[in-house]
Amino acid sequence: MWHDDNDDIMKLYNIINVHEFDTPLPAACPVCGIKSGHIYMHRYDEEDHGGLWVWCSNCHNFSHSSFKVPDWWRNLSLFTIFDLHAVPDNLDEQAKYIDDFVNKLIAIKDDKKAKATTTTDIPCEKCGTNMINPYSGSMGLTCPNCGWGWVTSYYDPIVRDTTEYQITLLEGNNTSTETIRAINQVSRRNLIKSKQLIESAPQVIFKGDAPEVHDMKEILDKEAVLYRIEPDYPYD
Ligand SMILES: [Zn+2]
Ligand SMILES: [Zn+2]
Repeated sequence: MWHDDNDDIMKLYNIINVHEFDTPLPAACPVCGIKSGHIYMHRYDEEDHGGLWVWCSNCHNFSHSSFKVPDWWRNLSLFTIFDLHAVPDNLDEQAKYIDDFVNKLIAIKDDKKAKATTTTDIPCEKCGTNMINPYSGSMGLTCPNCGWGWVTSYYDPIVRDTTEYQITLLEGNNTSTETIRAINQVSRRNLIKSKQLIESAPQVIFKGDAPEVHDMKEILDKEAVLYRIEPDYPYD
């Protein structure tokens, strides 16, 4: 049912580096041409040893190899090392979820790279700041200062993210004043209700977009609160 004897499927990996849109996945399969090509990696240790899977949901060609995972990669919470084997059958069951997450990781990586390395010598006509090339050469130049350029608008990936995230308070949090205050700020419930949320966890305490969740995450991380964000949240 799954075939790993066609090396062309490995070309799917290239879209990590060369792609026209900021949502490159699912990608056109190099074997059958249908837009059902996927990529997943999983980091096994802190030295970035890991595995790489590329596969097509349509023609079921795949390739799996050991791999040095790039530093921008983040594992999904859906899988542990024990859930993953060479054949991508359980990955394929979550292909849509994986694609959404990997598209975000790629956008974040591209954005960081653009800000760090793709500054050009071409000054912005409006403000004189050197233009950048934010999309790996495919969509023209933009000004990182005033936004003028051949890209109509330039926003950080976190601002472009349209996902609604949900923060769930996990069991095992203490009921110190600091923790209760943090939950109070995030859940917008009063202090008594916030304490009850901690005692009755797991409880959903916040729903919002990526930038809102980022603010809430800072409040919770400061007090080392135990929580989970769904779907997987790719921003630092
Ligand atoms: Zn295919
Ligand atoms: Zn400018």
